[in-house]
Amino acid sequence: MAIEIVFLGTSAGVPTKNRNLSSIALRPKQSREWLLFDCGEATQHQIMKSSVSIPKIDKIFITHLHGDHIYGIFGLLASRAMSGTDKAISIYGPDGLEEMIETVKRLSGLNLPFDITYYTVKGSQRLEFEHYTIETVKLSHSIESIGYIFIEKDKKGHFDIEKAKSAGISPGPIIAKLKRGETVTLNDGIVIDGKEFISPPQKGKIVIISGDNDSPCLFEKYGSVDLMIHEATYTQRDFDKLERKFKHTTAKDLAATAQKMGVKKLVLTHISPRYDTAQRETELIKEAKRYYEGEAILAKDLMTIEI
Ligand SMILES: [Zn+2]
Ligand SMILES: [Zn+2]
Repeated sequence: MAIEIVFLGTSAGVPTKNRNLSSIALRPKQSREWLLFDCGEATQHQIMKSSVSIPKIDKIFITHLHGDHIYGIFGLLASRAMSGTDKAISIYGPDGLEEMIETVKRLSGLNLPFDITYYTVKGSQRLEFEHYTIETVKLSHSIESIGYIFIEKDKKGHFDIEKAKSAGISPGPIIAKLKRGETVTLNDGIVIDGKEFISPPQKGKIVIISGDNDSPCLFEKYGSVDLMIHEATYTQRDFDKLERKFKHTTAKDLAATAQKMGVKKLVLTHISPRYDTAQRETELIKEAKRYYEGEAILAKDLMTIEI
């Protein structure tokens, strides 16, 4: 089972008929848990149309406190309570997140049957979990914004006992030596190399999930990542025409950075409502493809990617 990523909302600022507000769910390899990154308004409605399950969300990572990334968390927590689970939940994000959630809980008389542990993320941090690490990067936006990097732990090669058995090797001290990768000479003089039965080690995958950000180069230290999901709110042409410059990235800037980094797959998300026609959408992806040679995808709501 691969790492699974579901785009629950891909619009910027306001929802459109085709795009809900920011939220991405990620299921680590061979796991039942879902990690949720941002929770724009109506994220729980999107979850109902997807393979994501609210009681299986035990960790939520919030990039920043703009409404299009957070207003759905209150309803989601309330629904999680209604689902009957009393499993604790951890919520990671910038300063002020705990105050925001606790204030809404208090004012709306929301009593949750589970504990919430809040982690305030400050700058670059490493959050260690059993099968993966999440690193954080401070981004450049109009308010404090955080990027999250999901880093799967490398897997050592494992000894294939069935392969050894079918090669006629019976359990015992010989197997123990082969497991250590040693070479063994059997009674009949046949030489067996243990390494032949050990699968090659697997390098963990790396997925970048950005918050709102006008400087994708802040991720450059990660080099060749497997998947980069980053906002591309405008095309460069439209951005240049804006009277007021908001702190967002253009498709051109993102694509050029991803090319420089050697990113294997790039997803553009957080799409301005001005691109809400098929024709306008292609302008974004066309611009990205001019500057990036890898696989570039324009995110759509409820799209799933496996890596
Ligand atoms: Zn936003
Ligand atoms: Zn924002």
